Amino acid sequence: MYAIAIHGGAGTLPRAEMTPERETAYRAGLAAALDAGYAVLDAGGTSLEAVTTAVRILEDDPMFNAGRGAVLTHEGIAELDASIMNGANLAAGAIAGVRHVKNPIELARAVMEHSAHVMLIGSGAEEFALERGLALVPNEYFRTETRKAQLQRVLTGDTRPANELSALGTVGAVALDRAGNLAAATSTGGMTAKRYGRVGDSPIIGAGTWADNASCAVSATGHGEYFIRAAVAHDICARVAYGGKSLAQAADAVVMEHLVKLGGEGGVIAIDPQGRIAMPFNSEGMFRGARTSDGEREISIYRDR
Ligand code: ASP
Repeated sequence: MYAIAIHGGAGTLPRAEMTPERETAYRAGLAAALDAGYAVLDAGGTSLEAVTTAVRILEDDPMFNAGRGAVLTHEGIAELDASIMNGANLAAGAIAGVRHVKNPIELARAVMEHSAHVMLIGSGAEEFALERGLALVPNEYFRTETRKAQLQRVLTGDTRPANELSALGTVGAVALDRAGNLAAATSTGGMTAKRYGRVGDSPIIGAGTWADNASCAVSATGHGEYFIRAAVAHDICARVAYGGKSLAQAADAVVMEHLVKLGGEGGVIAIDPQGRIAMPFNSEGMFRGARTSDGEREISIYRDR
């Protein structure tokens, strides 16, 4: 049994703004990432490689809030966060506030595999990227016209909250490979108009990302300030490990009950060692997809489609 699930953010893009053309484009973007990640598993590759591949493709796709097409800070800069975790040995790598690393997930993985640390930020993280020979780009590479317009709407006093306007936040993947190993990866531009070096949940191990072969792997998306305080990804796996809950029960309890009580909007994708997948969200929609070696394949945006 092997399987992968991906998300392209629990954005609150209202159905009214979702034209058929846009929907087709989002579905195609999700399908490309899902099938590429699945192909890695199908060929006998590791879950770590599968989640890296899927997230890299979503980072390169300007429609999603990660890598190219990331949302912009208050000052109009793209500042990227990412993390990755290996469920086989609890190795983890994370980066925050980088401005020039083309694929932040590759840097997070390099931190995990080639540094003595778990989390690097800002200029130090970029120095490490340079040393590792990762692709670096000018910040302008990440900044699309859509995101510039979105930032202007926020800065000119549009009263909707910044996380709503960020619309399509974050990408991520979780996978189980043929060897029974779990992995999770998450990458984001964060929230539109974020200030002062703000860092969300996505690069926080235990909040936005968690993987442990003994319980589950999770990648989250949503209003990061709440996801950090609820330690969302770790809490779901802890409920499985210590509470005897199924993955679906644990993920629902955290996303649909605990986070809702706190006021935290968003969702998660999660997978357990048997390849069972849960993808609950308490927002209007969550761009998501799942594919298993049992032949199931799903790509969805809203609750009913
Ligand atoms: N969780 C991300 C953050 O707070 C944003 C998102 O998923 O929409 O940075």
